[in-house]
Amino acid sequence: MPHSTLTVGNVEITVLHDAEVALPFRRTFPDVPLEAWKPYIERYPDAYSNGDSLRVHFECYLVRSQGRTLLVDTGLGNATSNPNVVASIGGGIDGVLLSELEAAGFQAEDIDTVFLTHLHPDHVGWNVTRNGSQESATFPNARYVANESDWTAFDTPLDSEIFGYDWWAETVAPLRHLGVLDLINDETELTSELTVTPTPGHTPGSMSMIVNSGGERAFIMGDVFHGPAQVTETDWVFHYDMDPERAGATRKDMLEWAEQDNAAIAICHHSGFGRVIRESGKRYWQAL
Ligand SMILES: [Zn+2]
Ligand SMILES: [Zn+2]
Repeated sequence: MPHSTLTVGNVEITVLHDAEVALPFRRTFPDVPLEAWKPYIERYPDAYSNGDSLRVHFECYLVRSQGRTLLVDTGLGNATSNPNVVASIGGGIDGVLLSELEAAGFQAEDIDTVFLTHLHPDHVGWNVTRNGSQESATFPNARYVANESDWTAFDTPLDSEIFGYDWWAETVAPLRHLGVLDLINDETELTSELTVTPTPGHTPGSMSMIVNSGGERAFIMGDVFHGPAQVTETDWVFHYDMDPERAGATRKDMLEWAEQDNAAIAICHHSGFGRVIRESGKRYWQAL
């Protein structure tokens, strides 16, 4: 897959594609009537498939700032790194993040920070590499940064059953005993051009990366929204938003901010960068 790189002041952001699946609207947005999707399917044909499903990408982002090399999220993973999730959501197909990284000119060793927007099973897949019973950090020189509220929310057998399978023990819990995990609570500067800030609702500890360099801005927003339609329809509830009301308020605030600042925006389940534009009083996604 061709790489798309966006330059924001002195920062470079490259999309690294891990996987893609089609997920039906009735599963992802069960409260939204099918006909309500029609104008968005016409406007953004690449974002949907079959007239009844989202084309869900699993994207990660490589961010280069001030000599640092950061990775945002680690995707779905493969059959040994995240077996239950690859078998279910991924339809049994291994993700390709590591070969994408290599094609972009980098090795796993080059990553100094892995920033996890949240700890859902489809964002942590390549965290750990398993060789028999031996586990190691896939990005051996990286600190893994995540929000403590997500750690608390998911670090119990009950919560890891939300999706009907376990992922925590394979992908997230090992980070702690490998000694590579940094849990944070508040807004944190990763470099003077990159700040991660809480954007809760989808999960309690969801965070976004704010890129600010040379008078330009970009927001990498994880799962704050799930595709172009929700830029306009901020009240549409995504099935896996843990606190739908808070998720909707965060979505509205972040898109308003992105519009005001003319920021480039990116999320983890839609491919490529966009901007918020306004037409007839409504906000829309416009691909860059
Ligand atoms: Zn999520
Ligand atoms: Zn997700």
